[in-house]
Amino acid sequence: MKKSMKRMLDEIEREAEYTRSLTGRKRFSSRVMAAMGKVPREQFVPTDLRVYAFDNGPLPIGYGQTISQPYIVALMTDLLELQADHSVLEIGTGSGYQTAILSLLASQVYTIEVVQELGEASARCLQELGYTNISFRIGNGCAGWPEHAPYDAIIVTAAAAQVPQPLIDQLTPGGRLVIPVGLPYMPQELLLVKKDLQGEIHTRDILSVAFVPLTGGEP
Ligand code: SAH
Repeated sequence: MKKSMKRMLDEIEREAEYTRSLTGRKRFSSRVMAAMGKVPREQFVPTDLRVYAFDNGPLPIGYGQTISQPYIVALMTDLLELQADHSVLEIGTGSGYQTAILSLLASQVYTIEVVQELGEASARCLQELGYTNISFRIGNGCAGWPEHAPYDAIIVTAAAAQVPQPLIDQLTPGGRLVIPVGLPYMPQELLLVKKDLQGEIHTRDILSVAFVPLTGGEP
């Protein structure tokens, strides 16, 4: 493993421990950390920013959007508690980095991006890197992707004013949704929404985060 990758993983582990009282987890699962160690993050950032690819911070990817901070990617992924046979929906493909992590942990990934250029570029990048279990769609993800529902897990990587009801509807009983909720350009709250086996919804605040807003209008 490259030194820079090892440093990134160490920083994620340090931050996980530091935030354990908020997140309820002292460390992330070894499956999640193994996936974080496998995906070449430098392939998902603009060429001129590659020297920063393994820093534990977000980076601009054009179109006013960002690739999320590695610690946040690991945390959100860990909260999903993915299993190898799971089907997962991602809203906000962006660079495709989070998509790649999901692809290593679930059986099928459905990902939606509203900015056509970003969606097409990340689809190309992920295909070239050999990720095959990903279906891409360009459009507003707030309505989910009903044709492939229900999902064992749903992850939203842009901030919503409130949890979009279609996403809750498209969650399987026992499923988990991770989503930042709050006002644009203000700290938002990362929520873990669980649908239990009876279909009841349970929501937990995890910690404050800063995401770009969901665009295109929420339902
Ligand atoms: N997980 C991505 C995060 C990218 S930032 C990464 O780490 O690279 C959030 C992304 O959500 C942006 O690419 C933005 O264009 C996209 N987005 C914003 N609103 C959306 C919507 N309504 N539907 C789908 N994608 C959306």
